[in-house]
Amino acid sequence: MNEFIPLLDRRNRPLRDLRISVTDQCNFRCRYCMPEEIFGPDYKFLPKESLLTFEELTRLSGIFVSLGVEKIRITGGEPLMRRELPTLIRMIGDVQGVRDIALTTNGSLLARHAQALRDAGLKRVTVSLDSLDDERFQAMNGRGFPVERVLRGIEAAAEAGFLVKVNMVVQKGVNDEDILPMARYFREQGHILRFIEYMDVGNSNGWKLDQVVPSQDIVNRIHAEMPLEPLQPSAYGETAKRYRYVGDTAEIGLISSVTQAFCSTCTRARLSAEGKLYSCLFASEGTDLRSLLREGRSDDDIREAIRSFWNARDDRYSEIRLTNTPELRKRKVEMSHIGG
Ligand code: SAM
Ligand code: SF4
Ligand code: SF4
Repeated sequence: MNEFIPLLDRRNRPLRDLRISVTDQCNFRCRYCMPEEIFGPDYKFLPKESLLTFEELTRLSGIFVSLGVEKIRITGGEPLMRRELPTLIRMIGDVQGVRDIALTTNGSLLARHAQALRDAGLKRVTVSLDSLDDERFQAMNGRGFPVERVLRGIEAAAEAGFLVKVNMVVQKGVNDEDILPMARYFREQGHILRFIEYMDVGNSNGWKLDQVVPSQDIVNRIHAEMPLEPLQPSAYGETAKRYRYVGDTAEIGLISSVTQAFCSTCTRARLSAEGKLYSCLFASEGTDLRSLLREGRSDDDIREAIRSFWNARDDRYSEIRLTNTPELRKRKVEMSHIGG
């Protein structure tokens, strides 16, 4: 039997995870991701024929698995805006070697789709929710969408048997007062809450360092009321640092891309909805896999293209973010294209 030789990049990081964006469209306009001034009525989203089809996505998933990918995360834009998403989940789940498929969603359409997603074999859902305060949440999502409906989506997912995690992007002066109410609520509900440091993704959110609440401050605030103890990472390349409430099994996670960069163990590749491959959230150029698919190239050709792409990878944006490297001034891909 052939021994599997892991595909490594220039910093010796294996390719293990693939994030697939299935649409660049979204029904929210979160200011930190798709501000209305840029993503307003005149913004040109991808035409339908540009999107990779389910067959193309399934074929690519198989090729990625043959190169070492074990986990696939479906994201967007808002992935539940892509029609028939459960069909895609089932198709990818049937690819031999896929160990885990997860979904990241804003939760707005989850109550409607949770059972079908579960029936299609999805096991894990991450729901993004930045506040339990209705007024603040409505302002943050830019569309006046009520908290209650996202909470209903989370409930429907839990009832359908999903392991649910909740992601909260924390911005100083915007929603940092929600840290404790969110921690209390999701501890009680038994869902893992993960705090994400606000990042300078894309080119349009006007990010400033002083709007970031460092993860250590978040831990300190929660610990003062509900004591926490750190947990060991459960896997190589885990993005979140985990803590458990003392005397309890409930835990939280912190994703600290700004204050504690984790580039040295970053195993993630990202595929945009139109089939461009990126190896970093902060990349400017993607490698066009759609052309290879549509030119009728063989699996081996596409595998070789991905192999050379990963071998050449040298990204470590978060480690050098606060330096004055000219590289950092390039135009970056938008988060809604590659999905975080
Ligand atoms: N629409 C889906 C959602 O919101 O969950 C999936 C795509 S969204 C781009 C994926 C994740 O990226 C969300 O959890 C979102 O909160 C996070 N995100 C978007 N912009 C961000 C930023 N500037 N800093 C940190 N996280 C961000
Ligand atoms: Fe949409 Fe998700 Fe971006 Fe918010 S974070 S605008 S929900 S893609
Ligand atoms: Fe990975 Fe790029 Fe994020 Fe570093 S900055 S962890 S290389 S995606």
